[in-house]
This record gives sequence, C-alpha cells and structure tokens, in this order.
Amino acid sequence: MTKLAVSIMVSSLDQALAATARAAELGAELVEFRIDHFTDRPELLTQLVEQSPLPSIITCRPFWEGGTYDGDEQTRMNLFEHAGMGALKPAYMDVELAGYQRSAEFRQKIGRVVDHPGQVGSTDTALILSSHDVEGRPIDMDQRLEAMAASAACRVVKIAWQARSLRDNLEAFEIIRSSQKPTIALCMGEQGLPSRVLAKKFGAMLTFATIDSHHATAAGQPTIEQLKHLYRWDSICADTQIFGVIGHPVGHSLSPPIHNAGFDAIGFNGVYLPMPIQPDYVHFKADVATWLEMPDLHFRGASVTIPHKENLLRFVREQGGQIEPLAEQIGAANTLTKRGDGALYASNTDYAAALDAVCVGMGIGRDDLEGQRIAVIGAGGAARSIVAGLAQYGATVVVYNRTFERAQQLAEDFHGPPGKVVPARLEKLCDSCCQIFINCTPLGMYPNVDQTPIPSAANTKVWGPGTVVFDTIYNPIDTRLLRDARTAGCVCISGTEMFVRQAAAQFRLWTNVDAPLNVFRRVLHEHLVGRR
Ligand code: NAP
Repeated sequence: MTKLAVSIMVSSLDQALAATARAAELGAELVEFRIDHFTDRPELLTQLVEQSPLPSIITCRPFWEGGTYDGDEQTRMNLFEHAGMGALKPAYMDVELAGYQRSAEFRQKIGRVVDHPGQVGSTDTALILSSHDVEGRPIDMDQRLEAMAASAACRVVKIAWQARSLRDNLEAFEIIRSSQKPTIALCMGEQGLPSRVLAKKFGAMLTFATIDSHHATAAGQPTIEQLKHLYRWDSICADTQIFGVIGHPVGHSLSPPIHNAGFDAIGFNGVYLPMPIQPDYVHFKADVATWLEMPDLHFRGASVTIPHKENLLRFVREQGGQIEPLAEQIGAANTLTKRGDGALYASNTDYAAALDAVCVGMGIGRDDLEGQRIAVIGAGGAARSIVAGLAQYGATVVVYNRTFERAQQLAEDFHGPPGKVVPARLEKLCDSCCQIFINCTPLGMYPNVDQTPIPSAANTKVWGPGTVVFDTIYNPIDTRLLRDARTAGCVCISGTEMFVRQAAAQFRLWTNVDAPLNVFRRVLHEHLVGRR
C-alpha cells in the first residue's frame, strides 16, 4: 500500500520532532528527514531517528542533485553512519545513484548501514537509490532506472524529474507499473501534481507531501491537508476515475474543491485535479489525447476553461466525437465527457447554468423567458453563451458593450427567430427599458470591487422594484452592482449560482447523479470568504 510521507527539512532536533508529531496527527505514515543543513552535530541524528513518532527516511541531498547540502562526501557518509547507529534504525536511507556509482568507498559505507544480501550486521534499514533532474526529463532515464534496479542493495527505486507537460505523469505511472522493485516515480512542478496524487492508484511505494505550503522540499509538493482532504487520498485506488480542470492558469480554480467535495458527498470513486496545459492547440491535443488513451488511468472528463474552450470543440470534432449543437453555435465548450463506450462529448454548461440561475431567481420556467426584455452587458465569452441561451428561449436581448462592433457581431450571430438580439452602445445603458440586467463584464470583480457597470446616477432611471439584476461575477459574492440593486428593491442573483450550476451540470454528466448543490454552495462560499 502506498505510504504518505511528509518531507521535513531538519534545522534542529526539537523543530524536526515537533513537525513530525504534527505530521503524524495529520495522517502521515512516514517522515523523510532532510538533513541537508543538519550537519554540525551528527551524534544527534541517532536521537532524531529514535525519538521520531514515525518511521523515518534519512536523506542528505547534495546541491548537485537538486538539494541544498554543499559539504564534502566524507562528511555526508559520516552523517548516514551516525543516523544508522542507534538501537532503533531508520526505515530507509535515500542515496543518490550518481554518488553511489561514483565512489566504491561510499557504497561500502552505505553497505554497512543498510540491509542487503551480503549484510553481516543487524540492520533492517532499506536502501532507496534515487535519481533527480530538476531541469526536465533526463535523456538517460532508462539507464538510470536499470542501474538502480540492478543494484543488489537497492530495495526501492526512486526517480523524480521536472514535468514539462501533463504527459510526463503518464511516464511516471508506466515506470511504477513496469518496475520489478518497489518504486517512487514523481514529477516535480505544477504539471507534476497528478503523479503525486495518483501515486497510490498505480501502486507507488510512497508519495511525498509537505506539512504546510511554506515548507515544501521539492517543487509541486502538495500539503498533507490538500492530499488527504482536497484530493481524497484515502479513497484513491486502482479504479478511481480521474477528472480535472484544463486551462492556463488553473492554480486558483475553485473547481477542484467543489467537485471533490461533491464526489465525497455521494461516495463516488473519483478525484478531480488541476490540469495546466500550455495555451495552444498542439499542447492541448497532445496532453488530452494521451490522457484519454491510457486505459487504466480512467480519465473520464474535464472542465475546460480559458484559453482552451475553442480548442476543446476542435479536438472533439477531430476525434469524431459529438458536440452539443448550441456549444457549436456558441463556438466554445467548457465540458469534456468520455462516455461509457469511449465516445467523446463536448458541451457547454455555462449557458444552461445562467438560464437556470435567472429562472430560479425569478421563480419562472425557461419557457417564460419568451418575450422578456433582457439587457446583457458585455460581449465576451460569458455574454456569448448567455445570449445564445436566452435567444434560444425567445427572449429579446439588448447587448450593451464598450466595443460596439463586438455587440453587433454577437447580435448578428444569435438574432432569431426565435429570439431577438440587438446591439447597443454601453453609454445607452442608462436609457434601457429592460426588466432583467445581466452583467457579463469584469467590472466589480476582485480586486476592483468598487467598480460597477451601472453607475449610481443611472440606477434610478433603469431600475425599480421588481427589476432583476444578475451579476455573473462570483468573486466577490456580493458585488457593488448587487448591493446597489438590492437597495433599489431589485431581485438580485449572484454569479455564484451560475458557477455552482455549471459545475453541477458537469457533475451530472460525469457521475449520472444530481450534484449536491448545497455542498457545492458551501464549499464555494468557504473558499471565496477564506480568500479575503
Ligand atoms: P471576456 O471574454 O474577456 O469579455 C469581457 C467583456 O467585458 C467584454 O465585452 C469587454 O468589452 C467588457 N469589459 C471589460 N472591461 C471593461 C471595462 N473596463 N468597461 C466596460 N466593459 C468592459 O470575459 P468573459 O469570459 O466573458 O468573462 C466576463 C465576466 O463573466 C467575468 O467577470 C467573469 O467573472 C464572469 N463569468 C462568470 C462565470 C460564472 O460561472 N459565474 C462564468 C464565466 C464568466 P470589450 O468587448 O469592449 O473589450
């Protein structure tokens, strides 16, 4: 069973033992003591190992392997010897293949403190032979792996490299799967996160986490808290289905906490990950196609955000998949689903989510939108989806936009029948006689929370009790536009409802189960309020 190891950079005995106790409380099963800087009092290493509340790995990573130890090899050997001297031994010692191959003396000294076929002493410490490349994938990766596996003393093979794309993770999984010895194969950096979270799915010997985000010992390490609670570590197994959010950037996406909490709530065997992909079609196609092709990865779907919404349509079209007709008309899709028969489906859950947010907020059905006069402010991606949905249900939509030509284009694309779509200049908004206003601009979005697309002076002219104001912005939850509208007695709808409902529609496509909307709302609110 794959262990959850916390990696701790040791600066003092007390600091390391306190951090290990905390890691044990949080659910770590192993501790890696990084003794790169703890070199002055080697005699304390015995105490460190003996007093550790968790079985330990001793690692002293030299700078030439991406670590921070800059002393000589003689001193390093002494450190390993001291660490293995106590009555209670470290569970593992991690030694770099390069140094181990280079020096017969090093091999001999390490051979005294680890268990191996020729060992005459009494130690059960297992040797991890490791190899790292912090720049990218090593070109001699196969030779390194073979050399580590061939060493009689090596009980665990470890390889780690800087991921250049999501595809690197798949190579890490292949390495684990094909290895004859227990193996750790990890990709560093943001794009390597899947290799860390899914190490358990492929039966790696361990994965590393950090105790908190300030103390990572390698790029891209998640915290124990994230691994256990956000990425559902305890429930991951060989059959776990994989989902994610594809975009660039995706680091701050709120979709992973929402979907993973949803999976938890319904007991669904899935995990949802951030999937950063370089902003061009070549990278999108290469990453997504290889993830879909790997059969035991069970990659079943993704939310797709900026800048890949158009790329998703092109990809699914090229793969012979099916595209939701309105997504085709909008020219953008935000959801990829791999169906049970393997066929791909691209759809757009934004427009439906916006329609539902409005209809539920007003207490009407979608068919009641027919003939309603609706002002859409903005003519970008969000406006396009919403206008397409409203027009399909026969609404009369006036598109107010700063750049009039974009409003004209949008109106031309979706003017009915059944709906009517007309363009207008943004300055004319204060003369509007619409009953529903939908903000699709970023005006008022964090951090510019004092902005609004409808200045106070114009409020009294365009609004009155009963007017509906929907702000698609969800950060902050309560925008200046909504506060002003509430004061004027309008019906207010928050962008959080659209966000929650577009995610819920994706969840339904992937799990065949209705999303737990209240869980989604709670998690979204916790994260948005928590960011302040
Ligand atoms: P986009 O494609 O970049 O479009 C932005 C639109 O806002 C354009 O029409 C632009 O006008 C207008 N705009 C930008 N800055 C402006 C300013 N200072 N004054 C007047 N107009 C301005 O962006 P998008 O993807 O449509 O997103 C727009 C908003 O929708 C975002 O704030 C986002 O929070 C929200 N959204 C919410 C959800 C949800 O689930 N709740 C989903 C998607 C988007 P020009 O054409 O003149 O440049």
